[in-house]
Amino acid sequence: MAKKLDKVEAVTVGVGWAGGIIAAELAKAGVKVVGLERGNDRSTEDFQMVHDEYRYAIRYELMQDLSKETITFRNKPGEKALPMRQFGAFLIGTGVGGAGAHWNGDTWFFSPYDFEIKTMTDKKYGKNKLPKEYTLQDWGITYKELAPYYHQFERMAGTSGELNPLRPERTEKYPTPPMKDTPILKSYMDAANRLGLHPFRQPSANISEVYKNPDGETLNQCQYCGFCEKFGCEYGAKSSPNVTVVPTALKTGNFDLRTHANVTGIIHDGNKATGVRYVDTQTGEEFDQPADIVVLTSYTLNNTRLLLQSELGRPYDPKTGTGVIGKNYCYQITAVATGFFKDRFNAAMGAGALGTTLDDYNNDNFDHSDLDFIHGGSITMKQLGKRPINENGAPSGTPRWGKEFKKESIKWFNRSIPVTSQGASMPHKNNYLSLDPTYKDAYGNPLLRMTYDFTEQDHALYDYITARCADILEEMGAEVVEPKELTDHFDIVPAQNDHITGGVIMGADPETSALNNYLQMWDVDNVFVIGASAFAHNGGYNPTGTVGALAYRAAEGILKYRKNKGQLVKRETSNKLV
Ligand SMILES: Cc1cc2nc3c(=O)[nH]c(=O)nc-3n(C[C@H](O)[C@H](O)[C@H](O)COP(=O)(O)OP(=O)(O)OC[C@H]3O[C@@H](n4cnc5c(N)ncnc54)[C@H](O)[C@@H]3O)c2cc1C
Ligand code: SF4
Repeated sequence: MAKKLDKVEAVTVGVGWAGGIIAAELAKAGVKVVGLERGNDRSTEDFQMVHDEYRYAIRYELMQDLSKETITFRNKPGEKALPMRQFGAFLIGTGVGGAGAHWNGDTWFFSPYDFEIKTMTDKKYGKNKLPKEYTLQDWGITYKELAPYYHQFERMAGTSGELNPLRPERTEKYPTPPMKDTPILKSYMDAANRLGLHPFRQPSANISEVYKNPDGETLNQCQYCGFCEKFGCEYGAKSSPNVTVVPTALKTGNFDLRTHANVTGIIHDGNKATGVRYVDTQTGEEFDQPADIVVLTSYTLNNTRLLLQSELGRPYDPKTGTGVIGKNYCYQITAVATGFFKDRFNAAMGAGALGTTLDDYNNDNFDHSDLDFIHGGSITMKQLGKRPINENGAPSGTPRWGKEFKKESIKWFNRSIPVTSQGASMPHKNNYLSLDPTYKDAYGNPLLRMTYDFTEQDHALYDYITARCADILEEMGAEVVEPKELTDHFDIVPAQNDHITGGVIMGADPETSALNNYLQMWDVDNVFVIGASAFAHNGGYNPTGTVGALAYRAAEGILKYRKNKGQLVKRETSNKLV
């Protein structure tokens, strides 16, 4: 039987960026918060001298252990989903800091178009631009309303960057200057300018100079060590929850961080949550943690799963289109073209978010009237720092092993680099999350089932945007340019990108969304669900800037809720406020 603990005001499930921000903001305001994190604790000291590609980038030491917890996957409704023992299309973080401990640091604001995508698309292209199977909807918030929280996230994170010429709506400068230029990135910038495009050095949470944030946390200067994506930073130079919001929360004395605490359900009476149940993964002991406010910050998949498993909210049914939990699950397409150059550059140096990008083919920045898709993607050349095991590409036709492969891969290591795009993904009625009817986890709870495939919109956008990536490489003078083709169907195993969204989406109408624009559940007002699970579609940038902005807004909402219980936002159903 579970041991009942003393009640607290708020509990967060998971301590990554979302959980860390909520903990810091509530604890600073005097709220006693318990943070339950299924993984272990870790800090900068744990990452010293650990440039071990095999351990972190191949065996994924910092990620969720799939032998203990996984999902089942299928492409289409009606197929049998099977448990996945290898992820690659996306990786799931675990431990204090979540995936924020080992992210790249690309820190973006979604565009004004993203938040009002349905209204703006209908207005410009007519209501039939996308077939009705695409469950496109507005987010219930505008860019202008979210902008102050974006800036709050940036000030806390110390983001480095420069103005995007196609995004003039910023009201504040970046807290720190852009990252360094490198010869290959400069060549990309020059080529894009010659093509009449609008390149700029992209926003980065690898910090360009020493920075003290408003909470008093100091971030160090990035050393361009190249072991960034999938690694913790040994210099404390990558903005992460571990060096910002978690220490801020702990310093207040109001934050009780409990690691190895795996939450298995939300306890509730149908109308209100009364706490959560968790298992101490080291002893197997079970605890009930009563709380006035429950905040799910356990990432897209577990936010959705915990609600379904706890029977909170209405599960989505793709046949009828009714229900909301599990709805609008989205991925992103990763368009890639690789350029092979005559001249060498230093490919071993780099940083997770060191790159030059452009938005000319992103959002609704170009005319889609004659195109079979909406939206687009940012197009970027990144200099991540190549590592020897994973990145030894050579042009097609080169043998994949033996003497010739060795010779060619050594030749091209410092002469090849990709241009990539993160392409927006539109929600489709058949792409969703639900509970698996067959497979269970170690605690006897059903696994989450993912039903997902690429849509026609994805294929059309991919082909268009890959050609644009290739254009820039041609202009840069690459000897060989190799665009990559999109597979017919989505496969969860090959590496693509780590951005999965939806499942517990926000909106203005409780019939079609699970959360209001403070990320408070419409159906249960003392439950807040924070993360990319709230995105109504996936945009053409990395998600975490938006996750951070939404988390700051949610924290403000929770503090308001403490004073005046009830819904923070009026319900808008069929254009009526109720
Ligand atoms: C390799 C990699 C690179 C990335 N690079 C970028 C990038 O450059 N830019 C960008 O915008 N995004 C990037 N991302 C995505 C980014 O890391 C996530 O958007 C961000 O970390 C999400 O924060 P979160 O707090 O919502 O979730 P997470 O960081 O996943 O944190 C959730 C936490 O909840 C815990 N948890 C889950 N279930 C339970 C449970 N049942 N009980 C208790 N605890 C639980 C987890 O252990 C985890 O610590 C990257 C992701 C990866 C994997
Ligand atoms: S590239 Fe910079 S931010 Fe990334 S791990 Fe190395 S020093 Fe840290």
